[in-house]
Amino acid sequence: MAIRNVVQVGDDILRKKCFEVTAFDEKLAALLDDMRDTVRKEEGAGLAAPQVGILRRAVVVDVKEGFYELVNPVILDAKGKQTGYEGCLSVRGKRGVVTRPLVVKVEYSDRNGKRKKLVARGFFARAVCHELDHLDGVLYTDRAESVESVRE
Ligand SMILES: [Zn+2]
Repeated sequence: MAIRNVVQVGDDILRKKCFEVTAFDEKLAALLDDMRDTVRKEEGAGLAAPQVGILRRAVVVDVKEGFYELVNPVILDAKGKQTGYEGCLSVRGKRGVVTRPLVVKVEYSDRNGKRKKLVARGFFARAVCHELDHLDGVLYTDRAESVESVRE
């Protein structure tokens, strides 16, 4: 396990579309372990593989509801709307107001390749949507009504 460097905005890798994960192997397990350690150290709500320089469709979400590893995630259904502040470990010192679905239903694989589903609500749904955007090269600042500087 290790803490990985978080890529910052301006790096092209954050703008690329990630590839599906095809090998559910030790390398994937090590990546997910490192992403967990990194998001906890950075006190983030989530982290996507491209943020640590890996162009694969894998994210971790660490919220009150628990810690989730989502590999090859797909949003099956989205309902409602919520508008609120969001930040990103790759866009330091900023936050922005973003409207997201209130509830999302997601299908994903676990680290062993088993397909699963979950329903996320509120901040959990926001974090899932934010992380999944990273897999398609989208940053929250692309969707934000406004972005402001914050003191860290
Ligand atoms: Zn982010």
